[in-house]
Amino acid sequence: MEKVDILIIGAGVVGLAIASELSKQFDDRSLVLLERHSKFGQETSSRNSEVIHAGIYYPTGSLKAKLCVEGNQRLYQFCKKWRILHQRIGKLIIARNENEIPALESILLQGQKNGVTDLERLDKDQIEKLEPNIKAVSAILSPSTGIIDSHQLMLRLEWLAQEQGAMIAYNHEVIGVDSKGNGYAVTYRNPSGQFESIQCEWLINCAGLDSDQIVSLLGINVDEIGYRLYPCKGEYFCVSNTKSALVSRLIYPPPLKELKGLGIHATKSMDGRLRFGPNAIYTETINYDVNEDHAQEFYNAVNTYMPFLNYTDFLPDMAGIRPKIQAPGDSFRDFIVCHEVERGFEGLINLIGIESPGLTSSLTLAKMVKGFIH
Ligand SMILES: Cc1cc2nc3c(=O)[nH]c(=O)nc-3n(C[C@H](O)[C@H](O)[C@H](O)COP(=O)(O)OP(=O)(O)OC[C@H]3O[C@@H](n4cnc5c(N)ncnc54)[C@H](O)[C@@H]3O)c2cc1C
Repeated sequence: MEKVDILIIGAGVVGLAIASELSKQFDDRSLVLLERHSKFGQETSSRNSEVIHAGIYYPTGSLKAKLCVEGNQRLYQFCKKWRILHQRIGKLIIARNENEIPALESILLQGQKNGVTDLERLDKDQIEKLEPNIKAVSAILSPSTGIIDSHQLMLRLEWLAQEQGAMIAYNHEVIGVDSKGNGYAVTYRNPSGQFESIQCEWLINCAGLDSDQIVSLLGINVDEIGYRLYPCKGEYFCVSNTKSALVSRLIYPPPLKELKGLGIHATKSMDGRLRFGPNAIYTETINYDVNEDHAQEFYNAVNTYMPFLNYTDFLPDMAGIRPKIQAPGDSFRDFIVCHEVERGFEGLINLIGIESPGLTSSLTLAKMVKGFIH
């Protein structure tokens, strides 16, 4: 059986960032990344808002807060160094009426506690100067929130990993994992449909929506240890270019309770399009269709702060699915990034529940994983 030092499952932005980081750090070790699709980023990493978050909302001390705040800076530096398309366009978190002002106060405090040092309070006049078409009575400006071309980011990470000696094997689907004396035997379906196995010392599971399935393959009960994923769909609608030009920044109302999502908000894509979403619908099937009937829900949510939009402006755009470990009705759950030594799985590193802000945190997640490897 072929042997490698490090095996990564999943070529989303997280797996690619880890492959890039580890192949740079451990240039004397062999590294293979297995991905079931024919190219990188075919799942959650290309179905998201492409926002470089500042790290405002998450509980202080959580991985989501720490990795996002540091990840934000690292990602901007990385984009600058490698000329990846991005824009630090800033975001407004708005209060649509007086009742929402206390929510803004607590968001501001939370952001400051997390180390987001550049947040500013804006009054109605200041909002009007920045965003004359937005209806809001008060806002927080987050200047370090931005947008990124996630495809370019992944392309660069893939290139770096390969330049540094990593082997990325597309059309390789992992279907079995066995714990061996000091390592793991991983069985996969190769591009010709045959089963083959490879042995590794370190196994890094960043299989996104299927990361809990990979854990199950090892005979671990994911329900007992709280690793079960509850996929949660987020749909987007977009509007015409003329109306897109009426807003320059990302505009967010205060987030939903229990952080099920950040609420239907307005994002701008790198090509200047105004998009709305994502909503949050727990689902059992992986299906990326956008339900046209949800246009009404979007219109109702957005009409409260963008009165220039009509119902007929909302066009179905795309959908992504969050790999949530937070079951419906549960409270906040953090990213799981764990070297499973205490469960008796030396060398197994699991990344589970890497929903938002996973894109922003991709480089810092990779740095964290590097810290486990000896
Ligand atoms: C609607 C939505 C909006 C979001 N918005 C933002 C945002 O604005 N900013 C932000 O920072 N984050 C955002 N996120 C989160 C971000 O997109 C994710 O955290 C990130 O993309 C996760 O990357 P990943 O590599 O872990 O997962 P994925 O991109 O899902 O990659 C996992 C890979 O593993 C592969 N795989 C799975 N099982 C196997 C197997 N058995 N064998 C081989 N390969 C396998 C899959 O094919 C896939 O390519 C958003 C997420 C969603 C859903």
